[in-house]
Amino acid sequence: MRKQKVLTPVLLGLALLTAQAPAPPPPPHPVALNGAWKLRTGDSASWADPRLDDRGWRDVQVPGTWEKTLGRYDGVGWYRRTIRIPPALHEGPLGLKFATVGDAFEVYWDGRRIGGSGSFPPDFQEAVDPTLVIVPASLLAGDPGRPHVLAVRVYNDYAYGGLMGPVRLGRYDVLAGQRSPAEIIVGGLASFFLAIGVYHLAFFARRRTARENLWFAILCVLMSLYGATWSAVFSAAVNPYVNEYRVGALALSAAAPFFLALVYSLFDLRFGKAEWAAVGWFALAFVAAAVLPLGTLAEFTRWVDTGNVLGLVAVVGRTAAVALRSRNTPHTRLLMAGTATFAGTLSYDVLSEYGWLPIAHVLPGVSCVFWIGFLVFVITVGIATAGKWALTEVTALTDPLTGLARRHVLEDALRREAARLRRTGGSIALVMIDLDHFKQVNDTWGHRVGDQVLARVGRLLRHSARNIDLAARLGGEEMGVLLFDTGLEGASAFTERFCAHLREMEVLAPGGGMVRVTASCGIAVAADLVSPEELMDAADRALYQAKAAGRDRRVEVLLSVPARVEGAPQLSRRRA
Ligand code: GH3
Ligand code: MG
Ligand code: MG
Repeated sequence: MRKQKVLTPVLLGLALLTAQAPAPPPPPHPVALNGAWKLRTGDSASWADPRLDDRGWRDVQVPGTWEKTLGRYDGVGWYRRTIRIPPALHEGPLGLKFATVGDAFEVYWDGRRIGGSGSFPPDFQEAVDPTLVIVPASLLAGDPGRPHVLAVRVYNDYAYGGLMGPVRLGRYDVLAGQRSPAEIIVGGLASFFLAIGVYHLAFFARRRTARENLWFAILCVLMSLYGATWSAVFSAAVNPYVNEYRVGALALSAAAPFFLALVYSLFDLRFGKAEWAAVGWFALAFVAAAVLPLGTLAEFTRWVDTGNVLGLVAVVGRTAAVALRSRNTPHTRLLMAGTATFAGTLSYDVLSEYGWLPIAHVLPGVSCVFWIGFLVFVITVGIATAGKWALTEVTALTDPLTGLARRHVLEDALRREAARLRRTGGSIALVMIDLDHFKQVNDTWGHRVGDQVLARVGRLLRHSARNIDLAARLGGEEMGVLLFDTGLEGASAFTERFCAHLREMEVLAPGGGMVRVTASCGIAVAADLVSPEELMDAADRALYQAKAAGRDRRVEVLLSVPARVEGAPQLSRRRA
């Protein structure tokens, strides 16, 4: 019944929603002008003329780079192609979107210049990608189905040239609303890196000793800023004040020293002269990015990139040496793999900028693989830093030699248990264990054997205690076990069992001798209304008595009696 009451209005609502007037037809999709174009190297204003006979021109595929068709050609080249506007697009306004062009270009529609990116003669070859050009309505008047000639003049002298990305013709508003794959992918990654950066910044704010979290945070935020410069929206927003290429160069040169600091910190490496020299080099690159004219900056960036690749090779070498040496440190190898992936992908991108390697078309529309490398790096750093904190937490609670809990863990547990007993009643036992004549073990067999014995005793104690009990190393060769919900009988039985196993335990010394140890134990059992200090003191006193009585034995103290055991003595002592 209830279900139907809820269901009916929901179904009615759905029916109403679906019964609404039909939605307007979606705007027509843009069409790709990919495929065969004509190309001619050189430069002449007359090549924009629609009447020109371009049959002798070279056939090329768009998208494609000059490096594929022309070899290492740098300079000006013209593309041409005849197009017919599909009927769906007859009702303009029309636009042309160029995803990636290397680098400055001008677009001509039936001989009229309608837009472009960068300038002729080029002063700075890094044009803003993608570029959207509007086709003026005046050029579309008359028969909408007639052919039009599209000509594109391209200039390049740096890395890859030509119509490298897809060219699309479509409704201007539709094209303007579309994000390029590069914007979506790099934008998504940049947001992710920003989130990671803010998280680690917040982490550092709480733990000021976590320096590597700070380096990581700054690195992520700066890489996120660099990623933002790939977005047309960001470019449009900052361009009135500062060129987005300059912003990117500033972000990268600022990020580099933090990458170095982070990796060195994670691998416990120290900064030497070479590292400080690298920091100086990045500082120089930062100043250059701030003051150089854009064209000069682009040239200078090549040198910076080359230096970075050489530096990265050195960094990977050093981290690999550490990773191979430290077999037992968790995550070191993973981190090393992440660092190497980042270094490798960045180097690949730099080499392909030089034209020595083909562009890596791994991510659609993104000509760089280092984004993947950086993502892998960020993930491995995340795992490694988390692992490091988990490790410090474990060592903060556990004694590394014996594997037993540390003293403060037992004290905390005792305090909590005392508070609980006051409310609920019941009993708790504390057993204090001190190895007999342990100084002699050290004196006879050496400290290392002493340590070995302690480790074995620790393991034995851990295995003797129940899961719910808490065994701790109180200091030196003294240990304590908290037995929850346990009375005198149970505590005695436990202690007897442990001592019996201990008497049978043998540790083989390097010289071939057998080391045996015994222990003296003080047991204190208490119910409600006993303070943790009283219980500790009582167990301590009992232990002292066990020692005084000849060692290798236990002494028990019953501090206060659980309420349910009526008529029992308030303080009793027994020896075994
Ligand atoms: P007893 O308790 O029976 O009176 O004699 P003992 O020799 O054990 O007494 P004492 O407490 O005076 O000496 C404890 C010795 O334990 C001193 C030190 O050499 C040794 N010891 C303490 N901590 C360690 C450790 O971490 N490793 C090793 N190898 N020895 C330790
Ligand atoms: Mg001792
Ligand atoms: Mg001692």
